[in-house]
Amino acid sequence: MKFCSHCIVDGELQPIIEGLGQVESFCPTCGKRKALIYDTDVHSELTEYFEQLLEIYTPESMLPADFPDEEKNLLVTELTDRWHIFNNKLNSTDVYRIIRALCAEKYTSMPSLFDARIGIAELNDKEYLKDHSLLRSNSWDDFVKFVKNHNRFHSNHIELTILNRYCSFIRKVYKKGSIFFRGRISSEDGFPVEEMGAPPSDKVTAGRANSAGISCLYLANDLDTTIHEIRAGIFDYVSVGRFELTQDIVVVDLKAIDHISPFIDGCDFVEHAINKEHLKRINLEIGRALRRSDSVLDYIPTQYIADFIKSILHEGEPEYAGIEYNSTINLTGQNLAIFYPDLFVCTDVEVYHIKELEYEKERL
Ligand SMILES: [Zn+2]
Repeated sequence: MKFCSHCIVDGELQPIIEGLGQVESFCPTCGKRKALIYDTDVHSELTEYFEQLLEIYTPESMLPADFPDEEKNLLVTELTDRWHIFNNKLNSTDVYRIIRALCAEKYTSMPSLFDARIGIAELNDKEYLKDHSLLRSNSWDDFVKFVKNHNRFHSNHIELTILNRYCSFIRKVYKKGSIFFRGRISSEDGFPVEEMGAPPSDKVTAGRANSAGISCLYLANDLDTTIHEIRAGIFDYVSVGRFELTQDIVVVDLKAIDHISPFIDGCDFVEHAINKEHLKRINLEIGRALRRSDSVLDYIPTQYIADFIKSILHEGEPEYAGIEYNSTINLTGQNLAIFYPDLFVCTDVEVYHIKELEYEKERL
């Protein structure tokens, strides 16, 4: 079985295939030309990675009777949907053939791991979850209820050492000079550059990544996302500021959570499987659009997370300058919440007139 470095998208495995240096005119699996090939008849470098990952799985017939059905999947589904190891252009038959060829010995001794549904037993083990889950009780909703209605500042629902470790897996560097945008609804004349930044502390209202009174600069990566995020109405004028980064910074990139390789150093497969879901939820919550009926209390859970990330130090200095998350209003857009607004300078403002809006609807 031959496949190539393009067939695999995992950040740890891809360089291994590239390092083998076997170039062929095309990849028989994905069709890529001039491909760097891995041939299971010749190479064995990837086998141990997959064998170790397979160790965490139990075939359906051996799982406890109360193991939830929705957590049982075929191995192919786990490798593609949970771990994102393969290029999503490959179909499930390709993935199945690759994994069977890579783990031929394991297949002979335990075919049910490959052919029947499997599960990670710890996902349903309360004792295990208590020690290894970012959310100790394993429920985001419990945490939300607690910080909204019981005790705002001293929750034990989040295992902060785990959150700290995962932040280090999804750190992202932005270089001095990087450009982002911020919009404000304005008059036809627009705002001057000095009025485009975050408001002063005494005027700061609560946001998804900041409490009232704590300044935070919300930026987007492009014009479209900026206009969507401020939810401009038809015929509104919008001032869009261009913000330039004044020094290199590191942010926590919550939307990268799906792309953390399970094979990264210091990462435990089972713990990763559990916590990945929680981090995806946090990304979603920070990016979620507010409805008019939402109260400022709805911001508290994500403010708690943002404040913790802001408090992480490295050699006495703050480690992260902000958080990056997906825009749920403009699906291809990205947003940044910057804890220290002075890191950016607004260099230019352009005024836009909103001429048309598109409404997407769904009958309930
Ligand atoms: Zn390929």
